[in-house]
Amino acid sequence: MKDLTGDSKDHQLTVALRIRPMNEAEMEEGAAVIAHKVDEQMVVLMDPCEDPDDVLRAHRSREKTYMFDVTFDCTANQDDIYVATTKNLIEGVISGYNATVFAYGPTGTGKTYTMLGLDSEPGIYIRTLNDLFKVIEENSEDMDCSVYMSYLEIYNEMIRDLLNPSSGYLDLREDSKGEIRIAGITEFSTSNAREIMQLLTKGNKQRTQEPTAANKTSSRSHAILQVTVKQKSRLKGTSQEVRVGKLFMVDLAGTERASQTQNRGKRMKEGAHINRSLLALANCINALSDKAGRATQFVNYRDSKLTRLLKDALGGNSRTVMITHISPASTNFEESRNTLMYADKAK
Ligand code: ADP
Ligand code: MG
Repeated sequence: MKDLTGDSKDHQLTVALRIRPMNEAEMEEGAAVIAHKVDEQMVVLMDPCEDPDDVLRAHRSREKTYMFDVTFDCTANQDDIYVATTKNLIEGVISGYNATVFAYGPTGTGKTYTMLGLDSEPGIYIRTLNDLFKVIEENSEDMDCSVYMSYLEIYNEMIRDLLNPSSGYLDLREDSKGEIRIAGITEFSTSNAREIMQLLTKGNKQRTQEPTAANKTSSRSHAILQVTVKQKSRLKGTSQEVRVGKLFMVDLAGTERASQTQNRGKRMKEGAHINRSLLALANCINALSDKAGRATQFVNYRDSKLTRLLKDALGGNSRTVMITHISPASTNFEESRNTLMYADKAK
């Protein structure tokens, strides 16, 4: 398992890959499995092209490998993913550090399954909150903690409260201390896991889903669960300042391309916004992952609502985890290749 607890710069950005199991539709189409986990870090993608007249393609290698910090295939369960990507962020958040976990990939590859999951197979949101409450409970004699949660979506560069959708579009504001806030967002405070799961499942149903040619319920929005932990030491003689740590868990919009989904009109515009925020995110992540340490590289958080909101939780002392998702099927080869290339670049 990957250790995310170290303090070295290398640990600031972790890129994981999850290959979901084949689904029924893919099996009915007679699709072959073309994405294979080779070892903890390596995955191989096979080009399914069989056309003997495609000379250019035939001369290229039919197999390409991609490297990640950690990879998972269909044998991994929800807890494996959680433990390797997110569990180790909790201590930092309680100590006042920020962190962001993203689910990235095309529609239908399992992003929502990884983040929200099912009642029977809960995902990262609920596992993280459960462990967070456990750690707080264990340390309640030494520290006084309060936890606030908000669940929102960014759709077409507009912010909606998924726990109170009737509140309309909300504004991002920067307060006098330079902290980013969403004006009027619901902040709920509870440690009842079942209640949280119900709230999140209900909130998820409020997400803007627009049918596209590729998928009937393609998610065109980014869903963000923001968890804020305020901690004060109860120990005499220690600092009485309040430490604030923020954890953002983000189910990104599907990355399918406009050409694939035959998007026109309204959907083309959505695509443009989605690409803008994913591009802004890629630029931020690239700047962070610049191993040569050219810290002067300009990070333009202002380029999208998503990166503006996450400004305090990307870079600096924050930890960032990106969980890339692909289908294993030959019928999704192009999408998988694009996704793997983006994630490789992100590292
Ligand atoms: P996305 O959010 O990326 O569009 P979903 O999370 O909605 O994709 O997944 C699409 C379908 O595949 C859902 O029915 C989901 O339950 C199923 N699924 C995704 N990943 C897995 C997995 N690792 N194991 C079992 N089922 C999965
Ligand atoms: Mg989804």
